[in-house]
Order: sequence, then C-alpha cells, then structure tokens
Amino acid sequence: MPTISHLRLNNGVELPAVGFGVFQTPPDETRTAVEAALSAGYRHIDTAAAYGNERQVGEAIAKSGVDRSEVFIETKIWISDYGYDQTLHGFDKSAGKLGVDQIDLLILHQALPSDFDKTREAYRALETLLADGKVRAIGVSNFMVDHLTALLDGATVVPAVNQIEVHPYFAQREVQAFGAERGILSQAWSPIGGITFYRDSGHTSALQDPVIGEIAKAHGKSPAQVMVRWHLQQGRSAIPKSTKPARIAENLDVFDFALTGEQLTAIDGLDTGKRGGPEPADITLETFGRPIPEA
Ligand code: NDP
Repeated sequence: MPTISHLRLNNGVELPAVGFGVFQTPPDETRTAVEAALSAGYRHIDTAAAYGNERQVGEAIAKSGVDRSEVFIETKIWISDYGYDQTLHGFDKSAGKLGVDQIDLLILHQALPSDFDKTREAYRALETLLADGKVRAIGVSNFMVDHLTALLDGATVVPAVNQIEVHPYFAQREVQAFGAERGILSQAWSPIGGITFYRDSGHTSALQDPVIGEIAKAHGKSPAQVMVRWHLQQGRSAIPKSTKPARIAENLDVFDFALTGEQLTAIDGLDTGKRGGPEPADITLETFGRPIPEA
C-alpha cells in the first residue's frame, strides 16, 4: 500500500495529498468504489451533498474496518442550502447521511455571485461550525479571485481550501497564485482531466495527450499517474475519481517516482485556458438550484 504524503492546511490540520472523488458515481456503486479506495490505501474521500451519495460514502467507511479517525471526510454544501441557518442545517443533513458527528473539511460548493450575501452567510455558518468543533476545517470550491476577494473582506477565517478545476488543459494559475499568497490550498477537481471527456468542451482527453503519454512512458507509469504527480509536485491536493478497482489503485500509486522540472514545464505548457466545467460567474439558484433531501 502506498504511503501517502500529507498537506498541512492553514489551521494545522493534515490532509492526505491524494484523495478519492465520487462525483457522478451512482449511489449503488459508491459503496464498492469507496471500499476499493480504502483498501487501496486512500484515507481521504471527497463527496458533496449535491452528489446524492453521502450516505453510501458513510456506510462504506463504517464497514471498512478503517478507524473513522484515520479517514479524512470532505463534503460540500450545495447553493440551495446557502444562508446562515440553512447552511447550519446543511451540515446536519450531510453529517446525518455520512453517519458522523464531525466532518473533516466542509466547503461551499460554488459561489453564488448573483446573491453573494447568501454566500457570505453560508460561510459565516461554516465559521460557526468550525468554532463549535463540528468541522475540523472549512473552505470553498469554484471561487474565482473576485469571489475570494469579496469573501475575505469580512471573513474571520481564511478558507483552508479552494477546490477548483485544475488539469493540464486548464490550470487556473491566477486563482491558484491568489490562494497561495493567502494560505488557501488549491485542490484540483477533474485532476486527470475527467471534465474534458464528460463534456464537449472542445478538447480531447488529457489521458490521450501525446506529451503526457511520452512522460508516462519514460517513467513506466500511466498518464493518469503522471497527472496526479504533476499536482503533487506543484503543491496541490488532487482527488481523482474512478469506479474501477484497478484504476482506483493506480491513481494512488504515485509516490515512487518524480517528474523532472522539464517534464513539469512541458505539462504546464498544455494549458488551453478553456474551462471544462460551468462558468463560476454564471451560477444562479434559478439554473442550478435543487433541494437537498433531509438525512
Ligand atoms: P477525474 O479527472 O478524476 O476523471 C475521472 C474520469 O477518469 C472518470 O471517467 C474515470 O472513469 C476516468 N479514470 C479514472 N482513473 C483513470 C485511469 N487511471 N485511467 C483512465 N481513466 C481513468 O474527474 P472528476 O470530474 O471525477 O473529478 C474528480 C473529483 O473531483 C470528483 O469525483 C469530485 O469528487 C470532484 N469534483 C468537484 C467538482 C466541484 O465543482 N467542486 C466538479 C467535478 C469534480 P471510471 O470511473 O470509469 O474509471
């Protein structure tokens, strides 16, 4: 089993550098996927209220035999639960489904630029949950520089993490640098470029990229492993997703090789500047809102 390196969040909490994602993993496949991840050695699972599979994540952890204290659970509050009281209740819903008293990292899934006051109130609820010991760290996701700037103006706790789309075809260096200067860790979603083949975003899969393929061959590793390694060496957290046990294990087996400076630069050179996921500025309750069921 690989020994996973850790990243220290801005409040001292330790996060396993590679975690396991479950976006688009149907609830009935989530249990087996998370079980496979835990037996492969993952100790960090990233889910979200909006994924509809928190319950199965919790069940898999509970049944795994791995002690709860050894698993870092991260989940996200959906925009429909923003607002101070609503977000406090959002925690209850997520914790209830996960079957835990405390969540390791709770983040806001998106900024709501059209109603930023609601976003601010949601974040204030996270600050309360942190002060009350219900969560060990708090953060955000898909926040761009203007959203972070607006949030930091008035926040008492600097977000520990900003989970954003980062893969070789979309690097978001500006928001990463802004976060780094303020102690906000960038956490890469779609770290191996998943979004580039889920959606018609105008580019092909980073897994098929010839530059990444050559680097992979040189190390006797796979393109996915090279991409996870690229994140790690640039100080990011990465949360690759798979439902296939062999790939789940493969994506964590990244601690026995290192990319050269030249190889990192070659991967950096693949950035197209084109986002695969939704434009964060366009997120509204009208278009993306949907109720999150009670626990
Ligand atoms: P990833 O970059 O992790 O890619 C996942 C895709 O790659 C799946 O189609 C998977 O298929 C395939 N895959 C996985 N491993 C391999 C491999 N070794 N070789 C070939 N193909 C592979 O994309 P995601 O979009 O899933 O992002 C990862 C996680 O990030 C999510 O699960 C979620 O937790 C989080 N996320 C957060 C978002 C946010 O807004 N905050 C948005 C999107 C994701 P298969 O399962 O069949 O193996």
